[in-house]
Amino acid sequence: MKSWILDESPGDYRFGTIDLPDPDPGQVAVRVVASALNHMDLWVTRGMPRPHVPHVPGADAAGVVEAVGEAVEDVSVGDEVVVNPAVSCRSCPVCLSGESPLCADFGILGEHRWGAHAESVVVPAANVRPRPPGRSWEECAAYPLAYLTAWRMLRRARLRAGETLLVVGVGGGVSSAGLVLGAAMGARVVATSRDEAKRARALELGADEALDSNQDFGVRADVVFENVGAATWDRSLRALAPGGRLVTCGGTAGSKVEISLPRLFFKQHEIIGSTMGSYAEFDQVTALVAQGLPVVVDEVVDGLGSFPEALERLQAGAQLGKIVIRH
Ligand SMILES: [Zn+2]
Repeated sequence: MKSWILDESPGDYRFGTIDLPDPDPGQVAVRVVASALNHMDLWVTRGMPRPHVPHVPGADAAGVVEAVGEAVEDVSVGDEVVVNPAVSCRSCPVCLSGESPLCADFGILGEHRWGAHAESVVVPAANVRPRPPGRSWEECAAYPLAYLTAWRMLRRARLRAGETLLVVGVGGGVSSAGLVLGAAMGARVVATSRDEAKRARALELGADEALDSNQDFGVRADVVFENVGAATWDRSLRALAPGGRLVTCGGTAGSKVEISLPRLFFKQHEIIGSTMGSYAEFDQVTALVAQGLPVVVDEVVDGLGSFPEALERLQAGAQLGKIVIRH
């Protein structure tokens, strides 16, 4: 199949031909109709992390099932599906307790296994779900990783209707998902961005207020939604109301941060880490998307060959929401 391929990490992508393995008994092969970009697509080229090579990038996909393993019963050739990028064993006690992101065998499409910036991708049958009706292929490719991650973050932070949610740095896919999910959950959402156009877009997407990321956040938030890291960390913590929870899934602008212990314990703050989501959480966000939850697509590029152009846009940070490749 035609695919983007990383032969070494650190290294650069090349567009070439690679043999797609036949699906194992419990797997399916999906012909990718649309795939979406994630920062992981950049990080694997820098050796952080370093995937097994040759590697095929791409965590987000929607497409049509083209082959099924012999043990697969509930998925058929021709099914239109979205792919859950979070893969785990589904049989260990951790998975059976519903906490599959903590499974020892947990892996992510496009990081630990071949991904979706290719003509086809092979995944466990349990990782495909019927495409939410009424949504475009681009929307179906845009939501899986970002919305799964944001949904688990808000669940872990115990966000409730009526609470104030501060979404820091609203440009990225996970942050924009946090905004629309928080608004859908009935929270008062305050978004921040350095960019005036993104602040205006955040208000259109349902934020109640939009602040400049470069200034102090004059807000008392019950939940702070972070994946910026060092650049905003101190102001994010200062914005927490007494008893507030800060939830983070990463640090795109610096991973080393400081914590003031007196502020942490006097104000009884919680700092919560979160990554990806469980199979049940994927079904929950898929149900919300099927019900009409906004999926924030920034730009669609045409053809698998446009991946480098899309990567440049991701790297420039000019987007609000997801960048999608229509294959
Ligand atoms: Zn497991």
